[in-house]
Amino acid sequence: MHLSQRITNVTGGGSDGWDLFNRARAMIARGIAVTELTIGEHDTPTHPSILEAMHTAALGGHTGYAAVPGTDELRATVAARVQAQTGIATTAANVMITPGGQAALFASHTAVCDAADVALYIDPYYATYPGTIRGVGAVPRAVPAHAANAFQPRAEDIDAAAAGAVSLLVNSPNNPTGVVYGADTLAGIAGVCQRHDLWLISDEVYDTQVWEGSHLSPRALPDMADRTLVVGSMSKSFAMTGSRCGWIVGPETAIDHLITLATHTTYGVPGYIQDATVFALARGDALERQVAAPFRRRRAIAQDILARQNSVALIPAQGAMYLMLDIRATGLTGEAFAEALLDTHHIAVMPGESFGAAAAGHVRVAMTIEDGAFASALAALCDFAEARAGQTA
Ligand code: PMP
Repeated sequence: MHLSQRITNVTGGGSDGWDLFNRARAMIARGIAVTELTIGEHDTPTHPSILEAMHTAALGGHTGYAAVPGTDELRATVAARVQAQTGIATTAANVMITPGGQAALFASHTAVCDAADVALYIDPYYATYPGTIRGVGAVPRAVPAHAANAFQPRAEDIDAAAAGAVSLLVNSPNNPTGVVYGADTLAGIAGVCQRHDLWLISDEVYDTQVWEGSHLSPRALPDMADRTLVVGSMSKSFAMTGSRCGWIVGPETAIDHLITLATHTTYGVPGYIQDATVFALARGDALERQVAAPFRRRRAIAQDILARQNSVALIPAQGAMYLMLDIRATGLTGEAFAEALLDTHHIAVMPGESFGAAAAGHVRVAMTIEDGAFASALAALCDFAEARAGQTA
């Protein structure tokens, strides 16, 4: 039977970028001890107090259909948090709760793209972005952010790609680069959106993981609130990846339509998960800092190790749970480097190429294993790179 182009074309016919990851998982299944520095999954579980709140809510009966837009309490909690962080007036009517950030990305593109519309995104990108855009029937168009510009996107590059586009998807703090967009970058992005009448979809799921500078939400820039949909999530900030709870913050009319869409797709998020989310957010930033602390620590460990060698260059690691390493001095592609490192040292890192052409010659390291093992793996990676660079020189 025929399957729709829309679903069979989600990956665009190419690889989904997860070959290395799948190979590492297959090795583990065969009993080989692989050090996994691939995916953005915390090495600590959800805090027991959040699980207790979930348990209490479920036993208390919040197990039926929950309000499709999100509970009033959670929408108000998210709105208050966003308003406090950005200074921009935000009410519950500006918020819809979603089953995680990924569903929010899909819904946001559904809200702003018609079939065959062009949707822009920045390369390097989180692996699902082009597929999300194809999945709603739109056409993804990548705008490169250059390694030479520390992966900060430039307004002129977005301008050059913007003809005929309806939206731009950005992500700061960034996965995969670990870069946090500065005020100049964001002002440039806002300018392009206004000049070309683009919606801005701002993926801010790493907003609590900022190691240098501060997180700025482009929705807070002048005249941006009416054209910006912010994607948020509990996954990274509270180590709640499996609970699937996120949100979209945007103009009321867009949120109204998104709620109608949710009625026809997800039908909301379980009530006990939403209650636990209210509980977690009400704890202030203490818990978020606790969840972010291991990554902050490991970033410092990595900076120390990387400062002692010359074959691997660290892209400024300003936020998120990843490091982007420039391994071009080895003469290898990111893919060849990651394959060889997996074969010879049983260490799995993601090839930069998995995240787009702009990240070629790089690898992404997730800081998601215990400090000692992380330090050993990074030291081994550097030794491997040094040996390869020596052969090239
Ligand atoms: N955006 C980015 C940049 C991500 O890295 C991820 C998860 N890795 C997501 C969105 C989606 O996260 P979730 O659906 O778990 O909220």
